[in-house]
Amino acid sequence: MTISILREFEKRLPSDVEITEVKFEGSEIVIYTKNKQFFTSSEEIIKQIVRELKKRVEVRPDLSITMDAEKAKKLIEKIVPEGAGIQAIYFEPELGKVVIEAQKPGLVIGKGGETYKNIKNHTYWLPKIERAPALKSDIVRAVRNLLHSEIDYRKKFLNKIGTRINEKGEGIDRNKEWIRISALGGFREVGRSCVLVQTPHSNILMDCGADPGSDNPPYLTAPEFDLEKLDAVCLSHSHIDHCAYIPYLYEKGYVGPLYCTAPTRDLMVLLCLDYIDVCQKNGKTPPYPKKAVEKTVKHTITLDYGEVSDITPDTRLTFQPSGHLLGSSLVHLHIGDGLHNILYTGDFRFGPSRLLEPAWPQFQRVETLIMESTYGSSADVLPKRTEIEEEFLQVIDKTMKQGGKVLIPSFAVERAQELMSILAYHKFQYPVYIDGMIWDATAIHTAYPEYLSRNLQREIFHRGNNPFLSDMFNRVAPKERNSVIDSSEPAVIISTSGMLVGGPVIEYLKGLAEGKNNTLLFIGYQGEGTLGRRIQKGWKEVPISTTGGKTRGLEIKMGIETVHGLTGHSGRNQLVGYVGRLTSRPERIIVNHGENKKCVELARDLHRLFRCETLVPKNLESVRLR
Ligand SMILES: [Zn+2]
Repeated sequence: MTISILREFEKRLPSDVEITEVKFEGSEIVIYTKNKQFFTSSEEIIKQIVRELKKRVEVRPDLSITMDAEKAKKLIEKIVPEGAGIQAIYFEPELGKVVIEAQKPGLVIGKGGETYKNIKNHTYWLPKIERAPALKSDIVRAVRNLLHSEIDYRKKFLNKIGTRINEKGEGIDRNKEWIRISALGGFREVGRSCVLVQTPHSNILMDCGADPGSDNPPYLTAPEFDLEKLDAVCLSHSHIDHCAYIPYLYEKGYVGPLYCTAPTRDLMVLLCLDYIDVCQKNGKTPPYPKKAVEKTVKHTITLDYGEVSDITPDTRLTFQPSGHLLGSSLVHLHIGDGLHNILYTGDFRFGPSRLLEPAWPQFQRVETLIMESTYGSSADVLPKRTEIEEEFLQVIDKTMKQGGKVLIPSFAVERAQELMSILAYHKFQYPVYIDGMIWDATAIHTAYPEYLSRNLQREIFHRGNNPFLSDMFNRVAPKERNSVIDSSEPAVIISTSGMLVGGPVIEYLKGLAEGKNNTLLFIGYQGEGTLGRRIQKGWKEVPISTTGGKTRGLEIKMGIETVHGLTGHSGRNQLVGYVGRLTSRPERIIVNHGENKKCVELARDLHRLFRCETLVPKNLESVRLR
């Protein structure tokens, strides 16, 4: 049976276009044509159809009209200006595509798309242009290689997804629907974020994270949740407490799609692989093997901010920036034809940073808002951004003047790149050493500059000034650590882990703790019971394990400083401010992702301020939204 929308589509095409295949790939309609003229100049006709059917359409060449690959490659090298820095050209015949990986994709596209069209019109291949990361990234490479080697599988997978969404969608009375959500993790707590959204036609999971504090998984055994009925998973961002249990779903047999942005996918791979390593180092069995992360990537469908995609017969998904970390998203679900709209914030910052734009408030409609409350208490007002930055620079400056070193324990993703952006902006004069996972995370940032703040984009694209490539930053290999510690020059060292619970930062601490001129600078939250918290509290001697596996006391003589307010979350004022600035005032606000007291306090105050229903469900509770 053909799906009626495909019939509708075919009816609208001119009769002589020689279509060899029409099918769904995800929410997109894909057609293959033998007509060269139609392949190269169908833009206007297709635009018209897209407007009418509200489906995205891609026209691809039938293989019979494409130029011989070797010839095409030579021609592309001739057409594209040298400055584009082409790194690789390869073909995906299954999709009629030629992939051009370049350092400056803009030059492969050309002014007004001129170069792109030239390639298409002369080779009859559909160009797909990818950015080569400015810093070499093993993760980005591995993800792209994997997807390239799985094209056949993905083509079938995407077709299956698209067919299911559209077939099932026929004849549904969308206005007779009910909608409910179930709290499967991260409610009245921080950790293992997981929300299930259900309608008569959809089972959608938003986030599925681990709880790094307790190791408790989300409640996937809840009666509402049935893995076999799961249609889609939407991931807000790549932090472990939001994504670490997604590969577990695939390990248990889920074969449906995971939706997220491209940088979220790549960072998720980095952080989930690290999560497995950390589990093993701590003598725990990880919930899944590394293969499960590969399986996850195979089933990931990436969307850009603002791109609207049907993900089930009655639900449309849109991501918008959440200002929390690279690629992090607010998740907007439009259910039924205008029946109900859910906005799930994930973690978000509604305030300025060097690295990212603030969270996006312009949604046409939001009836239910599910929002985080990490800093939800009235006492959680953050200092002004300018003051935070000034204080940060002052601490460093003082240590530099006394000839010492500043050691900054930092999370690998977002915080470290924010610090690098601040130092680069202020043209810091001393060397900065980067160690641990930070370099890999930074390299992923250089693959997706279009996800960075407008200011950084201006620097990178228009002034050719990429802060992450600045020669003030030096990557340290494990065997070079001692020479960094022993050198007499003042310097800054940024290293993982952020709470001194392991990682190379411990080696630096051992080497620098006894130097009175050095400073240990905390810029992030230090969890209860961590070494970081103890030192922050003022312990003058801390137990530390030696290479032989024994424990010894380490005397802390270096200065201890803390700069508060450098966070990827919204402070209390920003949480409230965001609700006020939302273009559509929600009817109901559900508060999650915060300590019990903070969730309750924020919900109470939002109710007073905005006169809307506010709810603070516990894990395992369900709420009917309609
Ligand atoms: Zn987060």
